[in-house]
Amino acid sequence: MPRSTSGSNISHVKHHNRLAILQTLLHAPMSRVELAQALSVSSMTATNLVRELTAEGLVATFAEPTPKGVGRPRTTLCIQADARFVIGVQIGVGVYWICVANLVGEIVEKHEYRFSLKMKAADVLQEIGQQINRLQTAAHEQHKLILGVGVGASGLVDNLQGVNHAAPSLGWYDVPIRDILQTATGLPIAVENNVRAMALAESFLGDGQTADSLAFVFGRDGLAAGFVIHGRLLRGAGAGAGEIGHIKVTQADHTCRCGQTGCLETMLTEPILCEQVAALGRDVHQVDFSKGRASAYEQILTHGRAQHPEITALLDTFGRHLGQALATVVNTLNPEIIFLGGMYAQGIDLFLPVVTEVLAEHAFYNLGEQTDIRPSTFGLDAGTAGAATLALIEFFYQTKSVSK
Ligand SMILES: [Zn+2]
Repeated sequence: MPRSTSGSNISHVKHHNRLAILQTLLHAPMSRVELAQALSVSSMTATNLVRELTAEGLVATFAEPTPKGVGRPRTTLCIQADARFVIGVQIGVGVYWICVANLVGEIVEKHEYRFSLKMKAADVLQEIGQQINRLQTAAHEQHKLILGVGVGASGLVDNLQGVNHAAPSLGWYDVPIRDILQTATGLPIAVENNVRAMALAESFLGDGQTADSLAFVFGRDGLAAGFVIHGRLLRGAGAGAGEIGHIKVTQADHTCRCGQTGCLETMLTEPILCEQVAALGRDVHQVDFSKGRASAYEQILTHGRAQHPEITALLDTFGRHLGQALATVVNTLNPEIIFLGGMYAQGIDLFLPVVTEVLAEHAFYNLGEQTDIRPSTFGLDAGTAGAATLALIEFFYQTKSVSK
């Protein structure tokens, strides 16, 4: 049921107005007069609340000279970016990243840690808890206040219960991420599916801020999507909205990590592409696979850019499959923008021409041409930016609608 934002309780109205000011200034710095107009409140109300927020260090003012340099400079209000901080954690397959971000979502530090997939989920989370505590102590020493932690993980992550119900790639089932990390760190914890968190970041802080509806499609070890529709993050009845990697698309008997065969995920991931390239034979592909998959994928893209014939053909087929997958997304939810993340964003210069062509061909009527396909605003930080955005929304801006 939608939460009512009206009421006669004065403290409730004040709280609502404070949040409205913070949310408005995050998206556009403006003067007190403009702020009062934007929020439809009296200038007295705006002035009083701004005074309070300035005293708390959350809102800053800066003077903008008038266009011709005459008259009094205009005073503009904005969020004091470094007034508070959040921590974002992205849990990947055998690796996790932790970042500290400020109130405008700028990542001020980021660390990468590896873990064995043989470890129990609770032990991995205890390690993550220790790293969070290390950052918390360092922040405390620098008089920085950490508001809370956002965690993005792959799988059926239930935001309300804070539980990861099923992440086959990690072997995690019914893992109470929120409870474990809350106990380990003493900080408030918000948990979400990692790709849904990436979509949230695009809508709240990225290039999708003005879009009513958007999708984020991420590929690496797996393939998944996140959707913000009419300004709301789509979670689904069982926390499964966006599991497009498990749409059955082929009769081929490649077994997916989910246990089924023929899933889209068996065609559009980094391990699959690397396997296909390796099968060409060393003399043909000339890729050094000994330096790990990330390096191999970079080399494959480099060969693609140099028009290596066999690799170009594989990348073209891969791009075609990606275009077909995006056509399904367009035909189902018709987002204004589709952001590509992970391996798709890294190779977007190679994939975009074929993806655009296939999308125009396969999406209904002219929906393909209308869809803006672009790389994530946050590049390789999409996951941690998503997790940090989750924390900013839950523990600071408290907005249900993520778009303006
Ligand atoms: Zn599957």
